[in-house]
Amino acid sequence: MKDIVTKIIEHIDPEPYREGLVDTPDRIIRSWDKLYAGYKTDPGSIMTVFENEGCDQIVLLKNIELYSMCEHHMLPFFGKAHVAYIPDEKIIGISKLARLVDIYARRLQIQERIGLQVVSTLMQYLKPKGAACVIEAKHMCMMMRGVGKQNSVMTTSSLRGAFLDKPEAREELMQLIKG
Ligand code: ZN
Repeated sequence: MKDIVTKIIEHIDPEPYREGLVDTPDRIIRSWDKLYAGYKTDPGSIMTVFENEGCDQIVLLKNIELYSMCEHHMLPFFGKAHVAYIPDEKIIGISKLARLVDIYARRLQIQERIGLQVVSTLMQYLKPKGAACVIEAKHMCMMMRGVGKQNSVMTTSSLRGAFLDKPEAREELMQLIKG
């Protein structure tokens, strides 16, 4: 792998063996451990659920920092995720919603898929009345190259159950995210 990264640097830089670049292949490979750590965790392994003792309203964790790498360019996209569900018989520790975002974000990804994977996992393990994942992110592949749009923010929403079927549930969610 180190040879391959060295080849990439040779392709980019006319002086690929100068001092500043000597340890770069090792550093890049080590940084991937963190950037792509999501592949190492099975999302199901963190989904410890508890009996619900009567909560039937929206549970929302908002402003979850999100860092991911776009699979088309291997450039970062980053922003915030808001994850919500309406419990039925099961609830889950709130920090697990943030863990779930990390597990799916720290892979080669597209923004739309992260939201889908988060809500699908919630639906599978919690069987809630509704699940939602709204993501707002800036994409370096748009900002640094391509159309060069510095301030555009991409918003995606993945909604299931009541958030999809009941306009008032969706409205309440969007108010909570904005507020
Ligand atoms: Zn991209």
